[in-house]
Order: sequence, then C-alpha cells, then structure tokens
Amino acid sequence: MDKIYWGADAGLAAYHRSRFEEFKTSGSEAFEKACRAEDGRLKHVVSAEHLDLALLKIIHDTTNAARRISKIEPEFLKGLLRHTSVLNYFPQPSTRTFLSFSRAESKLGIQREEVRDLKTSSTAKGESDLDALRTQSSFYEGMVVRHPSDLYGHFTVWAMQNSRRPLHIFNAGSGTKEHPTQAILDHYTMEESLGEIDGKTIAFYGDCLRSRVIHSGARLLALHKEMTVYFVAPEHLQIDTETEDYIAQRGVTVHKIKTGIGELPSFVDVNYMTRLQDEYGAGSQSEKYPTNLVFTEDHLRMMPETSILMHPMPKREEIDPRLDYIDDKRIMLWRAQRNGMWTRAGTMAYVFGVDEQIRNKYTFLEKKMEKMMRPRR
Ligand code: ASP
Repeated sequence: MDKIYWGADAGLAAYHRSRFEEFKTSGSEAFEKACRAEDGRLKHVVSAEHLDLALLKIIHDTTNAARRISKIEPEFLKGLLRHTSVLNYFPQPSTRTFLSFSRAESKLGIQREEVRDLKTSSTAKGESDLDALRTQSSFYEGMVVRHPSDLYGHFTVWAMQNSRRPLHIFNAGSGTKEHPTQAILDHYTMEESLGEIDGKTIAFYGDCLRSRVIHSGARLLALHKEMTVYFVAPEHLQIDTETEDYIAQRGVTVHKIKTGIGELPSFVDVNYMTRLQDEYGAGSQSEKYPTNLVFTEDHLRMMPETSILMHPMPKREEIDPRLDYIDDKRIMLWRAQRNGMWTRAGTMAYVFGVDEQIRNKYTFLEKKMEKMMRPRR
C-alpha cells in the first residue's frame, strides 16, 4: 500500500513518484546495494532480506554483551555514542517498538528526539514526505521510522540516496510488509529459548496475510536448515504467495492450515500468535477474529516443555485471558519485550560501528572477573 504523501501539488507529486518508481523497478539487488556501505556493512536496516546468519550472530552476541555490561559498568555503554543523535519518527501508532528503541538509544548514550503527531509537522502545510524526510535528516545521524506504507523502507533509502548526509535508517515497521527489528528480536528469543533453530517447526496463527511481523520473521527462519512452517489462518488471511515462494525456495517445508489451531501445539516448537491487522482492512476493528484461532489453556497444556508461545503484541482476543494469570516459562510474551530493547541496542551498536567495542569490553570484564574469582595459592 502506497500511503506516502507526495505533497499538495498533483503535478509535482506525479514527478517525484515516477522518480521513485524508477528506483523501485531497478530491482532487489540495487535496493540491497543502496543499503550497504562500500565494505559491505549494512548501513540501513530496512528489510529482513538483507540479514544473514553471520550478521544475526554479531547482533545477538553484541546484545548479550551489552546486556551483561549494563549490570556491571553501564557508564561504559552510555559513553559509546554520546555524539550521535537519532530521530524516532513514528507517524503510525506504536508502544513497544517506540519505547524499546528509545530505551535502547538511552542505554547507548544516543541523543534522541521524536516526531509522532504529524499535525505538529509541516506535512499539515502540504509539505511532501520526501521534503520532510530530507529536512529531518539534516539534524541527525540516524532515523528510526515507522509508517503505514508498505514502501516506506524503499522510500527512505531512495530519499537518502539524494542526500549528501550519511544518515542511517532503521525500519521500525512499514505497512504490512516489513518489520526487520521485530524479526531480529523474535529470532533472538527463539534461539535463547530453543538453543538451536535449525530443524525446528514454527506455527504462525492469525493474520498471516497482513502481518509484517510474519513476513519478516518467516524470511529469517528460511536462513536455517530443515525448517517447517505452518501458516494457520482462514483462506482470506492466508500467507501471500510472495512470502510462501520466498521461503519454500530456500528449503522450508510449508503447510497451510485452514482448520484452526487444533493439535498443533502438541508438536510444534514455537506457537506464534498475531492479531487481526484490521487497520489495513475496510474499517478499524470491523473484522472478527476466528474463534478456532484463539490460544486456550488446553493448548498450553498440550505444549511440550521445550516449546514456547510468542506474540509480537499488542494482543486482543487471540489468547485466552486466563493465560495472563498463569506463570509458565513457556509463555514468552513479556520476556520478548525486554529482548526487543536489548536486540535493538545490539542492532544500533552494529550500525553505528561500536559493536566490536562492546563485545571486547565484555570479554575483558569476563576475564577480569574470572581472575578475581580464582582462589589464591
Ligand atoms: N507490534 C507489531 C507491529 O507493529 C504487531 C502488531 O501491531 O500487531 O506490526
């Protein structure tokens, strides 16, 4: 969905849109190239398709190191990026992603500001998203963007190509298509819980068609070997062929199920719930969530000890409210939110080039502690 605002003048809007179309039709390789620095390092995190297992390991190791350092020497982290500034640009609503980015920035000492309400911006005077973006980029070294347009990731990278300022973009959710930092945090949570992701079975329940979380998450799962993925949704909310083909071509065994959750929790490793993304439908909250896709206490009971239940949140009626009062280590809904803050810190540290410093510092502290704990002769 193109929800980009091209400005008040129709002629100018058509001109800029056609320039953008040219970039878009230049293909996925050109897009990826535009997201990388000359040495191949990712400079914009806008698409899950640009991530690989080596980079995920770097981000997860940095995340773990930062998490531990924060308990011993938080001032070290706070000093790392104190000359770096970031704008959190969130014209589409958000609680978790916005707050977790903001806290991650704070942990790394990044100076941060925000724009959330476009009524207070010059967009209200007819300024195009393009000019707004270029203006914002004049003041910061990075931008975290969330937008209702499916194309916003592409759009920001294209817009930055015409700017001389080397700004970094973090896609915090664009329309129904991409949510790469949610995919990173989910990948981290699965690895932390399951140990190894290769060979596992994941069931996505709910709005497989419009959930950007599923679209990005499934792409990261396809980096692993011998994966099985179930998409469990009624026909009209089933996974799009683009995502299905993308992961199937990479060796994932795909099952599409219409009949509800059923017995799946008794054998899958990850139960991943999503809400109806009805903000992209005819009218907000006008659709009904299928009752056979509600995760109940019975489903929890059938889950193997080693499996987990996830949800990117916000949740509504997809999970029986009784589960909110059950203390069960397999329910990862809240733990995943903390993981979101730390993996976003790990991702930003990588993009701003301080990830190695963080990992080295942790190795140094670990050795120091080991020495202190060693018994004296
Ligand atoms: N928080 C997730 C997102 O931004 C999921 C959701 O909103 O349902 O896409």
